[in-house]
Amino acid sequence: MLELKNVTKIYAENTATPVKALKGVSLKFAEAEFVSVLGPSGCGKTTMLNIIGGLDRYTDGDLVIDGVSTKDYNDRDWDAYRNHSVGFVFQSYNLIPHQSVVQNVELALTLSGIDKVTRRQRAEDALELVGLKDQMNKRPNQLSGGQMQRVAIARAIVNDPEIILADEPTGALDSQTSVQVMEILKDLAKDRLVIMVTHNAELAQKYSTRIVTLADGLIVGDQTTMPAENAPAKKPAKDKTKSTKKPSMSLFTAFSLSLNNLFTKLGRTILTSFAGSIGIIGIALILSLSSGFNGYIDNVQRDTLSNYPISISKTSVDATSFMTLFTGVSEERGEPFPSAQTVTSQDVIESMLNIDLSENDLSSFKKYLDGYVDSPYVSAIKYHYGLGLKLYSNDGDKTRQLFPVDLPEVTNFATEKAETIGRYYDSFESIMNSQGVISEILDNSALINTQYDVLAGHMPTTADEVILVVNTYNKIDDMTLYMLGLMNESDIAYVVQKLIINFVGNGKNMTEEELDAQIQQNLANLGYEQTARSKKVYTFDELLNMSFKITVPSDSFVQSGREKTLNGVNYPLWRQLSQEETIDFVKTTDKPVTEGGNTVKISGIVRLKENVTAGALTTTLCYPKALTDLLIARTNATAIVKQHVAVKDLPSSMWYSVIDTGEDDDNNGFLQTAADYDKISSSLGLIDLDNPSSISIYPTSFEAKDKIVEIIDDYNVKMELSGEKDKQIKYNDYIGLMMSSIAMIINAVTYVLIAFVSISLIVSSIMISVITHISVLERTKEIGVLRSIGASKRDISRVFNAETAIIGTTAGVLGIVITLILNIPISLVIQDVSGLANMAVLPPLGGIILIAISILLTVIAGLIPASKAAKQDPVVALRSE
Ligand code: ADP
Ligand code: MG
Repeated sequence: MLELKNVTKIYAENTATPVKALKGVSLKFAEAEFVSVLGPSGCGKTTMLNIIGGLDRYTDGDLVIDGVSTKDYNDRDWDAYRNHSVGFVFQSYNLIPHQSVVQNVELALTLSGIDKVTRRQRAEDALELVGLKDQMNKRPNQLSGGQMQRVAIARAIVNDPEIILADEPTGALDSQTSVQVMEILKDLAKDRLVIMVTHNAELAQKYSTRIVTLADGLIVGDQTTMPAENAPAKKPAKDKTKSTKKPSMSLFTAFSLSLNNLFTKLGRTILTSFAGSIGIIGIALILSLSSGFNGYIDNVQRDTLSNYPISISKTSVDATSFMTLFTGVSEERGEPFPSAQTVTSQDVIESMLNIDLSENDLSSFKKYLDGYVDSPYVSAIKYHYGLGLKLYSNDGDKTRQLFPVDLPEVTNFATEKAETIGRYYDSFESIMNSQGVISEILDNSALINTQYDVLAGHMPTTADEVILVVNTYNKIDDMTLYMLGLMNESDIAYVVQKLIINFVGNGKNMTEEELDAQIQQNLANLGYEQTARSKKVYTFDELLNMSFKITVPSDSFVQSGREKTLNGVNYPLWRQLSQEETIDFVKTTDKPVTEGGNTVKISGIVRLKENVTAGALTTTLCYPKALTDLLIARTNATAIVKQHVAVKDLPSSMWYSVIDTGEDDDNNGFLQTAADYDKISSSLGLIDLDNPSSISIYPTSFEAKDKIVEIIDDYNVKMELSGEKDKQIKYNDYIGLMMSSIAMIINAVTYVLIAFVSISLIVSSIMISVITHISVLERTKEIGVLRSIGASKRDISRVFNAETAIIGTTAGVLGIVITLILNIPISLVIQDVSGLANMAVLPPLGGIILIAISILLTVIAGLIPASKAAKQDPVVALRSE
């Protein structure tokens, strides 16, 4: 069945000193015999054995297996042959130290793809045969030499091969254990071919059926010592089927081999993984910080933008020409530093005064904008209509107008210094009015809820409910308290008198009591009652009990009693109530606005959430959009407004003013132009919902702001193309320009940092490559063993790739875990320093990608050492110590 035909083997063939290890060996083996090979050291015994076992290739001649020449065998055929037909036993046992005894035995079966249960059963049977079943869960280094050799024999026979090759199996054993091993081999030789190399001629004589003697690469003796015990009665059918299948290591086996190996070197594996994880930690930390920071920036953006929307008003000043003037790019100025002895006029007045004062057609633009209400870039769009809302206290007889503010007279300014204070005091009124006290809530309740906490009460649910906004210290400035009616006129007068006495008089030399007496005296002279000063602290309950009166312009018109007669029709004329009359009017209405009255009440108190830098509520009182809608509808339903709207149905020559001009002449009170008509409309507070006076667009982020600018530009292009250039919208967006460059800088910094850390990633990859390399060197023997039991080159590289993949995964996971742990103190430190919470947050997707990158890089780093391992000559590998 097995025949060597004039086999020669030359080592180092192409060098100056080739070694002829075999010089033409011809041998024929029977199916079952126990052949001992004797001969001096270096005569070529191992070489011959390796060639027979397919571990080494002959240089010339032929090895015939089952009548088939092996001249055309490829690597896979040899692998299959070794795996199915040959079992090796080595002098130095060559067990894999990090695998248990039974796992060592199983290995060849694993390669042949036999299922786990069968595998375990057959491994146990083989161990039973060599009498070591009870030791199967031990590690090889827990066994004696003889035991290890018996394990090696169990491994050799587990696949039930036709050939057992043993290279000095007893060389390292004492004589007693040698006998045990020989007995086993003798038994095995009953139904298979056993070829054993030995130095021990005595043992050879005693146990083998045939002795072949080698000397200097040649057969010098071949004698049968005893008859082969009986004719081979081997189960041929089974053998044939099994030897056709090519062995291959499953990925699972590769992983469990590597995992076992890594576990035996746990300390080093952890160190390697940690080294590999440093790059990952670096990148993950930067990612955490930049994502935390970007999240913060996003919030600041949204919060800031809810304060600074893109605003487009009906009348816009194109300030560009102004701006370019100041930046000095609009004028041609010629050569700088001229040598001419002249001074020339630089003409700027014309271009400075040439401001484009055009009207924006907001009704056309609003129609276009309605298509973008649900755009992801838009957090809210607010249309302003110039409601003409006025606010009054709801204070019975003491009811007064709160907004617009009308500051009381507080002093008779006698001196020049006092007049200065007086002028300042007057301008104070317009400051208060421009600050305002009541406005509409941005129609995006989700945004409001992310920015504000409700401290008491609730958000408005009906049109007659308003909310009160306090600052982060639960404070409201006294200017606003005055506009809420929570501060008396005499309080203001008191403050101003105090300043005047300090500033003009000799207040600084007075005691507190004297100063107070003087102020009280002055106030009495000015006609102020001796009222107690207003409270400075209010409970939530007191505030929640507050209500106000509001009016819109149409509320304050009554028929003047005169009529206009046109074409025989009498039209009543109207006059506007004075402020006192209006106050008298609101005193008489006690119903809420929702029932046709003028009262609104505070429904809740809100405050900016912690960590929100700016909120969308810009005044202390805020009313819902429902109130705007209600007041618009109410205005449109009044008799005066209906009458005014009907004017447009008359021939334009008959357009008259429904507001009484007070003139008797019938020629008076006629409207010349549409603009005159619009003027009346606005004094009546008449609102065209399709034509707002200004539009505020609140973007969701700075990037979104750019997108909205694009949307507006698109509109302008569209108008240009359709020949409606006059409908183009002009607006200024300086904030957007500034902010987008900030976002750009942040991104650039992040990229630079990531590039920086990538270098450490590369360094750790190189390190892993080196460590894998060392591991290959360490496991050379194991590679040889694996090859001897039929593992292919691919299997070997698989084992090492599995090892690097495991290290890569551990490094990645370790890196992410360490980052997550580090993020906690980092966040705390940042919070301590800057007050910003949760600034180091690793995005989950980023973490997963980083683990993947870690695996990829380590596997790539291990590819070269792994392929080097695969290329190892198994013979050389086995010879290594
Ligand atoms: P034995 O097993 O009989 O002691 P070997 O078969 O191991 O002898 O070696 C036969 C000869 O081949 C020896 O001279 C040895 O030095 C040489 N030899 C074995 N392997 C190699 C090799 N890989 N490269 C070069 N020479 C080798
Ligand atoms: Mg040898």
